[in-house]
Amino acid sequence: MALQPLPANAVIGILGGGQLGRMTALAAAPLGYRCHIYDHDADGGPAAQVSFAATSAAWDDWAALDAFAEAVDVVTYEFENVPVATVEYLMKRVAVRPGPMALEVAQHRVTEKSFARDQGLETAQFWGVTTLDELIDGLSAVGVPAILKTCRLGYDGKGQIRVDMESSLATVWEELGSDDAILERMVPFVTEVSVIAARGADGEIACFPVTENSHEDGILRRSVVPARVSDAVAAAARKAAETLIDGLDIVGLLAVEMFVTEDGEVLINEVAPRPHNSGHWTQNGCATSQFEQFVRAVAGLPLGPTDILCESEMLNLIGDDVDKVSGYLHDPDAHVHLYGKAEARAGRKMGHVNRRLSPRRG
Ligand code: AMP
Repeated sequence: MALQPLPANAVIGILGGGQLGRMTALAAAPLGYRCHIYDHDADGGPAAQVSFAATSAAWDDWAALDAFAEAVDVVTYEFENVPVATVEYLMKRVAVRPGPMALEVAQHRVTEKSFARDQGLETAQFWGVTTLDELIDGLSAVGVPAILKTCRLGYDGKGQIRVDMESSLATVWEELGSDDAILERMVPFVTEVSVIAARGADGEIACFPVTENSHEDGILRRSVVPARVSDAVAAAARKAAETLIDGLDIVGLLAVEMFVTEDGEVLINEVAPRPHNSGHWTQNGCATSQFEQFVRAVAGLPLGPTDILCESEMLNLIGDDVDKVSGYLHDPDAHVHLYGKAEARAGRKMGHVNRRLSPRRG
């Protein structure tokens, strides 16, 4: 469905009501747009708190989806586990950007890695596993150490088990509790990086600077930009993101997480067709934030510049970390972003802090 640039006061429908929707809605406002959030429990959530409207209904509540499609001018998503059937249903009624191919690929780890390889990119060695016998075969193909992950719905290190020589495969298989899994060789990476690419309605692509990421227990803790990698590695990482966003025919954003090995090889780990935690630094350290860029792409506006304004770090506030906020409020280099979540549970992303690292002038 062709889409003219959205006029001011148009409504962007967002599937998913979390912090990414919240920050997208906040970035949409200065461009004159209103956001309508759709989630199964949207009411009062991080995104609904700052949005024009919210619908709380199931992903297969067709009547609610009809009403939502009527109420909005374009639809996007801030969460890649929206069922593909929901997007396909909406697409018959209103433009959805990005389309369902990006979702299908990003929702399944084997499909995702196979897609990257089909595009001529490298990944960790992997093996699709649906039975204990396949796990045994996979381990001899992939080698140890390896990591067994559920193919769907795993995030922030959930649904992942490390597999070593000593591991009992029967126990590991039972513990995972899924019959749709991937076994990956552990990559001895020196750095983890990500690139967020944007693609406009006219096919123009703009990449944000390569970001260096540190994870603990599978959860992103800190991002630093620019990434401390060689120019050749940075160029390869950007090229990979461009190849993937083009290959997936996305209008919107694609975040690509990659491993960098000692000899400068860049391996694709994961993609997400939406704003990404590792791009939060752009809110204060880049000429255009990833959220504004996302809105621009989805609304059919020209993309904004992606020049870095200052060396920056992003620190996630996870669980009780949120109690440290008052310290950051005294720091002239820090910007606090809280998500409006009522309860600080362990492992829950409550907010983040963007900090300038380069010295101030004047
Ligand atoms: P993922 O959910 O795939 O993004 O994994 C979360 C984190 O676990 C990654 O950012 C890495 O730090 C680590 N990890 C995942 N897969 C691998 C792998 N194949 N080799 C090494 N580390 C990995």
